[in-house]
Amino acid sequence: MQESISIDQLLRQRLEQYKAEPAVSSYGHVLSVSDGILWADGLEGLQLSELVALPNNVFGLALSLAPDHNGIALLNDVSTVEEGMEVRGTGRVIEVPLDGLEGRIVDPIGRPLDGKGPIESRRSRPIEQPAPAIMDRSAVDRPLHTGWLAIDAMVPIGRGQRELIIGDRQTGKTSLAVDAIINQCGRNVRCFYVAIGQKISTVKQVVDELAAHDALSYTTIIAATAADPAPLQYIAPYAGCAMAEGVMYAGGDALIVYDDLSKHAVAYRTMSLLLRRAPGREAYPGDVFYLHSRLLERSAQLSEEKGHGSMTALPIVETMAGDISAYIPTNVISITDGQIFLEEGLFHAGVRPAVNVGLSVSRVGGSAQTKAIRKVASQLRLELSQYNEMKIFAQFGSDLDSATQQQLAYGERLMQVLKQGRYSPMPEEEQAALLFAMTTKGLVQNMEQTTAVQQGLAAYLRTHAPHILTQIHQTGELSQQTAEALTLQVENFLTQLAEQKESLQ
Ligand code: ATP
Ligand code: MG
Repeated sequence: MQESISIDQLLRQRLEQYKAEPAVSSYGHVLSVSDGILWADGLEGLQLSELVALPNNVFGLALSLAPDHNGIALLNDVSTVEEGMEVRGTGRVIEVPLDGLEGRIVDPIGRPLDGKGPIESRRSRPIEQPAPAIMDRSAVDRPLHTGWLAIDAMVPIGRGQRELIIGDRQTGKTSLAVDAIINQCGRNVRCFYVAIGQKISTVKQVVDELAAHDALSYTTIIAATAADPAPLQYIAPYAGCAMAEGVMYAGGDALIVYDDLSKHAVAYRTMSLLLRRAPGREAYPGDVFYLHSRLLERSAQLSEEKGHGSMTALPIVETMAGDISAYIPTNVISITDGQIFLEEGLFHAGVRPAVNVGLSVSRVGGSAQTKAIRKVASQLRLELSQYNEMKIFAQFGSDLDSATQQQLAYGERLMQVLKQGRYSPMPEEEQAALLFAMTTKGLVQNMEQTTAVQQGLAAYLRTHAPHILTQIHQTGELSQQTAEALTLQVENFLTQLAEQKESLQ
């Protein structure tokens, strides 16, 4: 009879026999390798997007599955890969760390790029995830304040919204997004900046800007630069998105910038062509819409039951000669909840941020605007559109009636007040006060007063009537009483201005 053994001994026996081996699902061999794409045989049971390991710490991403040859995109150093080398499936998709990311610069696989040592993380998350279900979402109703007056007043963004920033090259797209990140200081929003296919020097500049404005402590930069292989650029936004999801599903608020999705689409096209997929319109593969829709659908405002966290996405798309009806721009426009269109002509005419009011919309953010801003900004879009139309007609004739002249002058004053320099985000209450002064009839009368109000009103109120600003800030409203007090203060400010001018003459 077999001698009975205790559970303790049994466990010991089993533990002694245990061999620590990586979870390998399948083996295969390299058939050929070129341009960062590897073809391998074997690898039975390989999954799509599975991480594949080669000797010398080289990793690849399974992207094309076939019975006799699998297409794998290499994620790092391709120079050591040889024909006949062993390839192993890991049975896992790529995962990124979720903790210890504040103030760090990482690559899309979560490896540090800032020389500050390894990322210590208890949790990780696969980079590809399904988007939150319909029932897990709730309506966008909390503002995500960007600090740009033109945006917060006319194209407001709510937490959980996806707002596209689109424009030609060098029109201030990155600046708009980076300053929105800088404005989140002290607002409890975790920020992620994904740099795709950019020059290393450009990424460095963004890092320096964030550091100089104390924004690094709550920001993570995920970088796949132009020097990195296309597959790494391809996975970068999904990696950033997974990190931001870590914040959202824990009940926090995240803001993620994808800079930019045009370069992302190009990286995907490169990879797809090398994988011998059929090219479609503009040589992009047929699934390029799904490429961005599955990414942007992951941004959401979660319901109360799911913790009420949110992920706001600001994807950036570059256009050629202002053509927003090209393939990638129209795709992304149709996926997002609105777009901010930056126009080159306006940018060079000194209107910065160069927001084209007519073509910029925010489909859901209006309900997230504070009552105070909504009250003072409700007519702004319409008035500016009228102004732009009238300006075109005014070019043809010089004999304009006084009503038209007045309206033109008013439009010009509004355009002036919406101009804003970099690194000077404006708090909500100051935005409300400034727009109140500008849009209330009979207060600001000319351009001189406009620039004075734009530059000095906020400081004047802070010293002479701080309670007005506090009240607007705390209640988010502009009551009748506050409006009257504010009118008085603006009048005082303008009188003081006139007196100063007189004493100078
Ligand atoms: P690219 O196409 O190269 O990515 P971009 O559209 O992202 O360019 P930015 O790099 O943000 O543009 O801005 C271009 C230049 O314009 C920068 O030097 C930036 O400092 C300046 N700029 C952007 N916005 C403003 C602003 N509101 N006021 C003054 N200067 C600005
Ligand atoms: Mg840029």
